Amino acid sequence: MAPELADRIFDSFSGASDSAPLPDLCPPLLAEQKIAWKELGEGYAGLQAVRVRELQCNGFSVKLQYNPKRIASTGANLEPGYIEKRPCFLCPQNLPATQKGILYRGEFFVLCNPAPIFNPHYTISNTGHLPQLFAAALPSFLQLAADFGERFTILYNGAACGASAPDHLHFQAVPAGSMPVEDDLCQTQKRHLVKQGNDAFLSGTRSTGRAAIIIEGKNRAGMEDLLKKAMAATKKILAAPGEPMVNIFCTYRDAGWRLFLFPRRKHRPDIYFAGEEEKILVSPGAAEMGGVVVTPREQDYRRLDAATIESIFNEVSPDQESLNRILDEIP
Ligand SMILES: [Zn+2]
Repeated sequence: MAPELADRIFDSFSGASDSAPLPDLCPPLLAEQKIAWKELGEGYAGLQAVRVRELQCNGFSVKLQYNPKRIASTGANLEPGYIEKRPCFLCPQNLPATQKGILYRGEFFVLCNPAPIFNPHYTISNTGHLPQLFAAALPSFLQLAADFGERFTILYNGAACGASAPDHLHFQAVPAGSMPVEDDLCQTQKRHLVKQGNDAFLSGTRSTGRAAIIIEGKNRAGMEDLLKKAMAATKKILAAPGEPMVNIFCTYRDAGWRLFLFPRRKHRPDIYFAGEEEKILVSPGAAEMGGVVVTPREQDYRRLDAATIESIFNEVSPDQESLNRILDEIP
């Protein structure tokens, strides 16, 4: 193990039967880091001061969150030329001197997110500088969801649609049920085109104003198989050159996984790049697709209305016809 990694270990989770449950290891880490790591303490103090208001859109709701600390992420420069040159903030050797984490199965590091949207909000970063690609990480993603259990939802942001470190493999863990879409998508009557695999089930819907594919099951191989097929179909129909743009959520409860896949056709909406008068700084990642829309600028928090949210979702998400084609493409 590299010395820079060994110095960072607050605790470890090996997955052995005598190991304490992963969610029980996280609160002591967060408590220690709030004191030892000044920026994290400030991040959580800032979270106490965020303002939230709910918007009722057509068939779904969103929570607008005015969170000034998120400007670094929402306003992030994601140009490849910039990303390649900056020191990667998820690599152990570049972490702030006081930042520590929980070594997870020797493969990932559970870290506290210094600009939280949720309380708590963890970043789960690979111990190596590997690109943000879902295919190779799929088994770890399902295992993480199982290890974090029913109190947490695990998030994946595609490299080009929400990941603030597109060059370093990472997930997030946030409290289960904190995003409105988690409830909205459980209303099974709104779904269609169900497919069945090896003790796993797939359905799709656009009832929440954006395309969503839901995969549920108790069989790990069945979940992996349907998820791979859904990713392949999304890639083909959206003509993605590499990994298709997706945001993925997963929660594990009652010995089964429930996973939401949001295919994307665009990262930032046009209004993000508009002139100063019309500009609205909303940069949709997993939280936004979940219905928690973060606005780091107060003027955007005040101005955003239901119609604008609906139009942003329409712009960044495939339309009904494309979703149907994706679902039809899944064998
Ligand atoms: Zn890195």
